[in-house]
Amino acid sequence: MTRAIADLLDHAADGGRIAPDEALLLYTDAPLHALGQAADAVRRRRYPDNIATYIIDRNINYTNVCVTACKFCAFYRAPGHAEGWTHDLEEILRRCAEAVDLGATQIMLQGGHSPELGMEWYERTFSAIKSTHPQLTLHSLGASEVVHISKTSQLAYAEVITRLKAAGLDSFAGAGAEILVKRPRTVIAPLKESGETWLEVMETAHGLGLESTATFMMGTGETNAERIEHLQMIRDVQDRTGGFRSFIPWTYQPENNHLKGRTQATSLEYLRMIAVSRLFFDNVNHLQGSWLTTGKDIGQLTLHYGADDLGSVMLEENVVSSAGAKHRSNRTELIDMIRAAGRIPAQRDTLYRHISVHDDPANDPVDDRVHSHFASTALKLLPVTAPV
Ligand code: SF4
Repeated sequence: MTRAIADLLDHAADGGRIAPDEALLLYTDAPLHALGQAADAVRRRRYPDNIATYIIDRNINYTNVCVTACKFCAFYRAPGHAEGWTHDLEEILRRCAEAVDLGATQIMLQGGHSPELGMEWYERTFSAIKSTHPQLTLHSLGASEVVHISKTSQLAYAEVITRLKAAGLDSFAGAGAEILVKRPRTVIAPLKESGETWLEVMETAHGLGLESTATFMMGTGETNAERIEHLQMIRDVQDRTGGFRSFIPWTYQPENNHLKGRTQATSLEYLRMIAVSRLFFDNVNHLQGSWLTTGKDIGQLTLHYGADDLGSVMLEENVVSSAGAKHRSNRTELIDMIRAAGRIPAQRDTLYRHISVHDDPANDPVDDRVHSHFASTALKLLPVTAPV
């Protein structure tokens, strides 16, 4: 390890801010274990209670009809396609009720950009969920949906956001960020809003009192410098708003889509990204490691590379699994993964408040029903009536 890298790691581990070119140097050249150690030092200082969290939530994909046709997406169908579907309100409420029964605290409504769905459809849906299940947090949609609704209903972004909030939306998911940098974004999602617009919508939402997360889908052919530029774009907005609660990098899944054949990020690249994110985002509280796209072993390892959260058990997921993510888990397994990493597991809510801390293995929650259901598995407890 060079002196420059060692000094940089010490500086970052002590909580000092690192510049993008320094982050790039660490990402490409720092020895893996030293990088992980520095990130873990920051995580330990930030969370001395040694807790790592998970959440129980359900993704509800309300439509697969989409005009945006992202090249990496294996989920959407163009308007008019015979395999297109949109759930009615009754079906959405039924899925919410199942989620409540399984102890979910959060619903992530995510779907395609259907030209049939405008402002009123979202208002009706959110109000109905909130009045039927007031205990559920609606952490849903994202900047891309705001842009879509603003087009279909001819409304300014701020008005869309204000009306979604009034209808019951609690916070935005960080979906749709993919990679915000212009060159790779244009290659993988030429019809999606620009990275600048994605950030503008998020900044507007934060200003209107709706916080969000931020994500990164890595591995679609971007350069290392573009990976770091993505982080930089988010950190700049976060300096102004403080509205990103967490950063969630994950790896692109290459099956069943028009980018098929492009390289995925390797597991080691993913771990390096997790560690550099913890060091770079001195202004974002939480960092989520993904087990869904990288597998449980790597998901568990992220807890040693700066992550403080393993995300969701995912009672339902159809989008990433359509593109080849095959990993499944359940609550007991997530708890075991966290504990085997030497951490104390805790179920959290959307605001990262601890709902239950599992500090006594003899009293772990046992509910075998709380496990992942994806489109490609047989859904036993959560039968899917629409062709997902
Ligand atoms: S990723 Fe979202 S916006 Fe892009 S094609 Fe798929 S459903 Fe549509």
